[in-house]
Amino acid sequence: MLGTVLISGLLLVSSQTQQQATGGAQSVQRFRFAEVHMGVPFRISVYARQEQAANKAARAAFERIAELDRVFSDYDSKSEISLLRAAKAGQPVPISADLAHLLRQSVSYSRATDGAFDVTVGPLVRLWRRARRRQELPEPELLAAALARSGFDKLQVQDRHVTFSAAGMRLDFGAIAKGYACDEAIRVLKEHKLPVALVDGGGDIAVGDPPAGKAGWRIEIEPAQAEAPATTLLLRNQAVATSGDRYRFVEIDGKRYSHIVNPKTGMGLTSRMTVTVVARDAMTADACASAVSVMGRQAGIRFVNSREGVEVLITELTETADGPVEKTAASCGFRDLGAGRQAR
Ligand code: AMP
Ligand code: MG
Repeated sequence: MLGTVLISGLLLVSSQTQQQATGGAQSVQRFRFAEVHMGVPFRISVYARQEQAANKAARAAFERIAELDRVFSDYDSKSEISLLRAAKAGQPVPISADLAHLLRQSVSYSRATDGAFDVTVGPLVRLWRRARRRQELPEPELLAAALARSGFDKLQVQDRHVTFSAAGMRLDFGAIAKGYACDEAIRVLKEHKLPVALVDGGGDIAVGDPPAGKAGWRIEIEPAQAEAPATTLLLRNQAVATSGDRYRFVEIDGKRYSHIVNPKTGMGLTSRMTVTVVARDAMTADACASAVSVMGRQAGIRFVNSREGVEVLITELTETADGPVEKTAASCGFRDLGAGRQAR
């Protein structure tokens, strides 16, 4: 089998054999690379005639991802967004082109999702990280203070400057930067004339052109419950991202709080959803998967149905007297991404 990639929440297993295409002086082979960036393993699969060309392109793609990590890392105190925390209210601060670009995109997702997606949730996310360490809910006063320092309407991007209207704001690109990094890696591989490629950033996946003779890259989404069938997608020049509470959450007093927060209430989500979004690029898929998690099933599907090229699959776990029951729902075109385009 060729190019099957299994995604389950944030985990991805990639297994495939090398393809030998006939014709030409040297056969086309699949080359695979992996490096840790942004706290997750990034994997690149690329088809090339020569190993040297594949190595060079993958090197450049990883360098681009590392460059983005230096801008968007929340864990590196020297990253551009970490240094921005010192910004004073009302003072424009110069920012890099990458940061200006992703900030603009993020604000536009905030507007489109009525604030469900919001990269200014940094102070809230920080509180919830502490809650996870201490195993106790954030104190209401701290939550109120963090809410006062967040909100996409409290920042303005003008050309290559950002102005915060409150002090102590903290940007968090955890819901969009990995997707953007996958897109940029694909772009770099294409620049190196290697368009037949897949980039997996810890479960966010962007694919380029399909391998020769194939309709697309086969990507399998593992079901939340082991006995349910996996969903197979066939993608080309598209991307897929998954958000959910399957691996990252804190349980306090028997209630499970996700690492995704509702920007309006400041609370970690308690709905048990796994959201998989397919889009034309991984930045969109990544942002929309996080946004739909906050919006919930109905509003989320409505939102996705209104966006060109975006599809979603939602798996929701509800507790019943007979135990947990899994329900799935999808946007109008989701099913067409797999079965209708099968080609093995
Ligand atoms: P993802 O796994 O792509 O859904 O991203 C989750 C991460 O995004 C969290 O760990 C936070 O760093 C950040 N985040 C949490 N809630 C939100 C939100 N409502 N909007 C944007 N980013 C968020
Ligand atoms: Mg996301």
